[in-house]
Amino acid sequence: MPVTIVIGSQWGDEGKGKIVDLLGDQADIVARYQGGANAGHTICWGDQTFVLHLVPSGIFHEGVTCVIGNGVVIDPAAVLEEIRMIRELGYEVEGRLLISHNAHLIMPYHKQVEAARERARDAGAIGTTGRGIGPAYVDKFARTGIRVVDLLDRETLRKKLKRSIEEKNVILRNIYGEAGLDVEAIIEEYVAFDQLIDPYVTDTTQYLCRALREGKRVLAEGAQGALLDVDFGTYPFVTSSHPTAGGCCTGLGVPPTAVERSIGIVKAYCTRVGNGPFPTELLDEDGERLRRLGHEFGATTGRPRRCGWLDLVALRYTTMVNGFTDYAITKLDVLTGFETIKVCTRYRYDGKETTRFPSEVQTLEKVEPIYETLPGWSEDLTGVRRFEDLPAAARDYLRFITERTGVAVRMISTGPRRDQTIVRP
Ligand code: GDP
Repeated sequence: MPVTIVIGSQWGDEGKGKIVDLLGDQADIVARYQGGANAGHTICWGDQTFVLHLVPSGIFHEGVTCVIGNGVVIDPAAVLEEIRMIRELGYEVEGRLLISHNAHLIMPYHKQVEAARERARDAGAIGTTGRGIGPAYVDKFARTGIRVVDLLDRETLRKKLKRSIEEKNVILRNIYGEAGLDVEAIIEEYVAFDQLIDPYVTDTTQYLCRALREGKRVLAEGAQGALLDVDFGTYPFVTSSHPTAGGCCTGLGVPPTAVERSIGIVKAYCTRVGNGPFPTELLDEDGERLRRLGHEFGATTGRPRRCGWLDLVALRYTTMVNGFTDYAITKLDVLTGFETIKVCTRYRYDGKETTRFPSEVQTLEKVEPIYETLPGWSEDLTGVRRFEDLPAAARDYLRFITERTGVAVRMISTGPRRDQTIVRP
């Protein structure tokens, strides 16, 4: 595998962390290509649980180099804290973690602007995590952002920060009626990051492209999910970056021709955090049950996730956009005990049936899911290690997904631990 991309096929929280962790064994490099520290990837091994926000989960594999690509926005305090925690667990980080010099930084004013905007929006809130990720991307594209490389040159940093903070203070005071920020305090704080972060900073695009030429295998890890992509997701209820396959190329600087495999991580049902349309959402006992059995609460925020049945209209759409070569189905164990399982295969809109996924929210909010009902199973799946040992109904469920999408299921996750996985040839 020159480049394999792991992409959430739904609204995030599909269990990408576990799959990346598992595939990390076969990779030389694991790279994050977009998003910020709002993505909580949970990794469990033995009785240990660890939530990674920014550092790729490959850091727990000896011999794997981890890259935070140019497409990611970085909160230096958060990344340094994560490095400290990983070290405390006994893993070497220096020399194994490379941070793109071109990645943009999240500044305190980004968090403040985001919080002020969400408060002002009130009922129409996007439901952001308040970590300043959106505003950091806004500055990136407005060409007023501050990049990692700027930290290494104090004079430039001072100049850029001063200009940026003064501008943000005008916005905070005059538009949102909030207190402004202390320019000097922020400059001092960020100047101090310079030495701490320096050992990790490099031209990661050069590094990755050389590694690919040498035949190394790169596992590219997306955060969130395809339906939260700023272009292809349910805009405006989306993230500010590109979790989809294209984001891998722009967020790392690897050519599309290097991508060999695009794995769609599909949770056996659907969840969504925050606001935005969700056609198969269950507001009944079944939804409550999925949430309880699947522990569907945000890894970073603790927010309860909205839950619903698997939506194949949406999955076919993200399969098209990402060119998924195969699926990893996660959390199949959570469906144990449902007498029947529903799968949405079409929508009804304006009295007509459709298989098109409308990414415009006005339409998506009005579609009615049309379900096919499959028999459930009662057996506990958490100990199953071979496809043949799954209950017939569970196998049929997986076959149904392949039949209706044309994509093979190569991995099946039946529990949070590494060993609770079925890999098919
Ligand atoms: P990610 O951001 O896509 O990695 O997803 P999260 O880490 O937010 O959510 C996945 C959660 O589900 C984590 O708590 C995992 O430990 C857990 N998990 C992953 N795969 C499975 C599985 O197959 N079964 C169960 N029961 N839990 C799983």
